[in-house]
Amino acid sequence: GSADLACDVLVLGGGPGGYSAAFRAADLGLKVAIVERYATLGGVCLNVGCIPSKALLHVAAVMDEVSHMADLGVEFGRPLVNIDKLRGHKEKVIGKLTGGLAAMAKMRKVTVVRGYGAFVGPNHVEVEETTGTGQDKTGSKTVVAFKRCIIAAGSQAVRLPFLPDDPRIVDSTGALALPTVPKKMLIIGGGIIGLEMGTVYSTLGARLDVVEMMDGLMQGADRDLVKVWEKMNKGRFDNILLKTKTVGAQATPEGIRVQFEGLDGTKSEGIYDLVLQAVGRTPNGKKIAADKAGVAVTDRGFIGVDVQMRTNVPHIFAIGDIVGQPMLAHKAVHEGHVAAEVIAGELLGDAALARSAFDARVIPSVAYTDPEVAWVGLTEDQAKAQGIPVKKGLFPWSASGRAIANGRDEGFTKLLFDDRPEAHGHGKILGGGIVGTHAGDMIGEIALAIEMGADAVDIGKTIHPHPTLGESIGMAAEVAHGSCTDLP
Ligand code: FAD
Repeated sequence: GSADLACDVLVLGGGPGGYSAAFRAADLGLKVAIVERYATLGGVCLNVGCIPSKALLHVAAVMDEVSHMADLGVEFGRPLVNIDKLRGHKEKVIGKLTGGLAAMAKMRKVTVVRGYGAFVGPNHVEVEETTGTGQDKTGSKTVVAFKRCIIAAGSQAVRLPFLPDDPRIVDSTGALALPTVPKKMLIIGGGIIGLEMGTVYSTLGARLDVVEMMDGLMQGADRDLVKVWEKMNKGRFDNILLKTKTVGAQATPEGIRVQFEGLDGTKSEGIYDLVLQAVGRTPNGKKIAADKAGVAVTDRGFIGVDVQMRTNVPHIFAIGDIVGQPMLAHKAVHEGHVAAEVIAGELLGDAALARSAFDARVIPSVAYTDPEVAWVGLTEDQAKAQGIPVKKGLFPWSASGRAIANGRDEGFTKLLFDDRPEAHGHGKILGGGIVGTHAGDMIGEIALAIEMGADAVDIGKTIHPHPTLGESIGMAAEVAHGSCTDLP
């Protein structure tokens, strides 16, 4: 058909998956267009996800650290929070990064088409122009023809249908906008996103309740890690309601009145100045007229792909949150690179590139709370459930010189090694978890060890700088190997 613009690769969505794919494809020599409805590239992660949350969490962590300093011999006065300035800081951080992306797109001659894209055929996407900072449609339409397409349309927050429409009820995007600091806040959903936002708001002065359907917060992480976080964070919460559903809510002048029902039938109620719903994210698969291109979308809105990120339609690929869990930026980026390489391999006749595939053994998870909780690979719970015997090396930070010097020795580092008989006592590392300050910055080493197939001797004999928190990884390996040297 006729088109206003033609390209080798059309990337639908400019989030971490989309821009990574677009940049890699352009670097490999292809003509690339990104379709993005919002004013800036970066998607959820840069605009309303990973980055703004970490900008605020950094401030919260400094405030919390300062409040502990009295025990270390230095007292500060009560913090004076200027919320407008804090919001401004967060906006500046986002602006720097999204501005950087725009410059990188320009440098690579990647065309950014601003608007809402939907398929109109197997080789065409129609883009309805959007304006302003949001996605107000102007009615002006552009048709883009492509040889290959990468769907990177991401996900959005799930909304509980029974919650009334009220500015005091927000999702993560609304919470990141930092409208006010409430006195009393409810977090619906005790996952990473809810607990990170709760950390920010409680440090700024809010009292928290959290309600979670499962029997523990931060699902997915081993309970021993979470326990340390819980102990340190007890003071933030009035109520932690586990195995409990939120069943109703009404907006009243005094606040949002919310009803809960325990799985055992117990009923309770609370009243809140701010309610954050953080009950998960739903993929945008049903909103792009995928059927017009023949791309199969599941009932829940996910798009299935193979290890090369190819959908059921051979020239259309999909990456990131829209292809499934875990919905994490670093997963999206790596998938984006694979899709771009496979496409470049096919279009440019490079057999090696065309064989590119997503073959990561592990994808790390991090809760950027205080302390941080990070884990990668097999967890102890999973090992138990799958009947895989593991040898555990656990190094408590109460024995780490650096953690003690920092006044933050509550954490620990745990490594799990394959202890099946066929490993002959030299099993490879299968997983690991860290709870403590900077855990997220350290978990990458464990991911690398898993990818490289390291065993306890490899890790234990690697000289880590002293005194660092990272040293605890070497020590945990030595504990597992049975030769801990007790270095203070
Ligand atoms: P997205 O980032 O969702 O990008 C999709 C893009 O496509 C969007 O810009 C959207 O506007 C655009 N789009 C969609 N449909 C269309 C259309 N039809 N036409 C035009 N444009 C369209 N992950 C981490 O790894 N670490 C973290 O610390 C972290 N923190 C988070 C904190 C919060 C509060 C939230 C909400 C998420 C967080 N995440 C984090 C998750 C992370 O943001 C996502 O996994 C990541 O953004 C997914 O990238 P993506 O490219 O798949 O999609």
